[in-house]
Amino acid sequence: MELNLKKHHDDLLFLPLGGANEIGMNLNLYYFKSKFLMIDCGVGFAYNIPGINMMTPDISFIKQNRHNLVGIVLTHIHEDHMGAVQYLWEELKVPVYATQFGANFLRSKLSEYRLDKTVPIHIIDGNKSLNLAPFELDFIGLTHSVPEMKAVLIKTSLGNVLHTGDWKFDPDPIIGEVSEIEKIKKLGDNQEILAMICDSTNAINEGHSRSEGELYDSLRSLIAQRKGLVGVATFAPNIARVHTIAKIAKELGRKIVLAGYSLQRLYEVGKKSGFFLEDYGFISDREIKHYSKNEILVICTGCQGEEMAAVRKIALGNHNFINFTKNDLMIFSSKIIPGNEKKIFELFDLLAKKQIDVMTEKDHFVHVSGHPSRDELRQMYHLARPKISIPVHGEFIHTKAHCELALECGISRIIQAENGVAIRISRDLSATEIVGKVKSGYFGIDGNQLIDLKSEIIKERKKLQEAGIVIISIAVNDCLKIINRAKIITVGSYDLNRDEESEDFLRQEISLFFKNRARELDLHDGLGLSFLKKKKKRLKIHENKIFQDLENQLRAKLLKIFEELMGKRPALEVIIHLVD
Ligand SMILES: [Zn+2]
Ligand SMILES: [Zn+2]
Repeated sequence: MELNLKKHHDDLLFLPLGGANEIGMNLNLYYFKSKFLMIDCGVGFAYNIPGINMMTPDISFIKQNRHNLVGIVLTHIHEDHMGAVQYLWEELKVPVYATQFGANFLRSKLSEYRLDKTVPIHIIDGNKSLNLAPFELDFIGLTHSVPEMKAVLIKTSLGNVLHTGDWKFDPDPIIGEVSEIEKIKKLGDNQEILAMICDSTNAINEGHSRSEGELYDSLRSLIAQRKGLVGVATFAPNIARVHTIAKIAKELGRKIVLAGYSLQRLYEVGKKSGFFLEDYGFISDREIKHYSKNEILVICTGCQGEEMAAVRKIALGNHNFINFTKNDLMIFSSKIIPGNEKKIFELFDLLAKKQIDVMTEKDHFVHVSGHPSRDELRQMYHLARPKISIPVHGEFIHTKAHCELALECGISRIIQAENGVAIRISRDLSATEIVGKVKSGYFGIDGNQLIDLKSEIIKERKKLQEAGIVIISIAVNDCLKIINRAKIITVGSYDLNRDEESEDFLRQEISLFFKNRARELDLHDGLGLSFLKKKKKRLKIHENKIFQDLENQLRAKLLKIFEELMGKRPALEVIIHLVD
């Protein structure tokens, strides 16, 4: 049922366009009194789409309503929360709100797209309310793998919604603040939270997520035992992890090299925002040669197996300055994200072939998650005491488990959202329900353009990837006699050079086709196509129709031949030119 906004002027709606029943691409809308508020604007990984590695949510719906969009609030710096701003800005053009660190990080990214001076970024003060009428926002700091992660309390006259963003309860986060549990408890005790929209990433994991502080102990002892070069691959924006590793390196007397552009950017922005102020002994990769191997620790980008990233270059022996050899160690201090396994294991293999030791979360305690396990979720429900729970930020299996947990915690109304649904949030819990759907989907980031993943371009590209293309260009005269030889080009489909017999057959079939058509149309000298065209014109039939028909008929015929030759269908284009 398509959403009819006019009917909901007096309702409070939650409308996720991305991030519901998937990990990545968080983009959430709230609607109240004809205005929209956007929380987060993220990207996600794309799989099995030729030429496209990243994608954004389809924002057609909010683009149509952008004059009513009061702003975009960004909860934290992760790509799945702010990575789409530069791609979608042109379509939205509304003010963006972020913490100081978030703003510095975003500006640095936008400068690559020459948008840093164009996008108006306003700084959030975590201790003050922000009025984006008709919404009033309060912020609650929660621990995550990056500092300054802010949950948003959206206050309206119809009730308040706690949009948690990504969080965990970590008493020892190494960097950034401890979760502001007291703030949440106070809101819960006063029954001020009507609905909670909450992180489901680890909703299938029992227990409590482990602390960054505990991880520090484990990584320190693993690295302390090593004599050779040590590398740690992690997510570039995981500033907490970079901080943990930097601290260990300093204590163990190793200089730190940041390998990969995104890590260097994180370091620069972090420094500007008040992190990394202590002298940790960062050096550039060029300076490595002045030190012995046991004096260096390399932090690398590319933990998900990304093509151009530092750890892949190191694994391939292609890095200009960093050379890992036998008995050196590479630690993957990161999660193996489902969908990326193939690329990641290929990378482990490359390293193993060079006799480089590899440690991963599968075999050693080298990573902790930045998201809540089930005990933390339970704790959150007991603190916040919402009436309504709408789990997001997880695959279906995670949001389903989260729904079951919310039920166990005594939550009265629970809705498993999906992208594109509009959910009415009401104090009347029976009226809290899905009230309609809007367009949702994905745009692939394809070089400089965004392409709808349901579009013909993607279908065609997949087809080309699957079976290649055949292009046949034929010049004919007025009586459909072939002039010169037909040009047959096969790209990534069938090698005709090695199969003269098939090529001869193909040419015979083409010439037979034109002979038959000429006969059927009764074409002969003096009474060719041009005459026919005139005649058809009088009959009000489009003159190009004859050619279009010929091309389509020949295409269908040749496609059958190629299908038999190849056992599958290539893309096939037939072009017929009329020459004098
Ligand atoms: Zn995050
Ligand atoms: Zn996230």
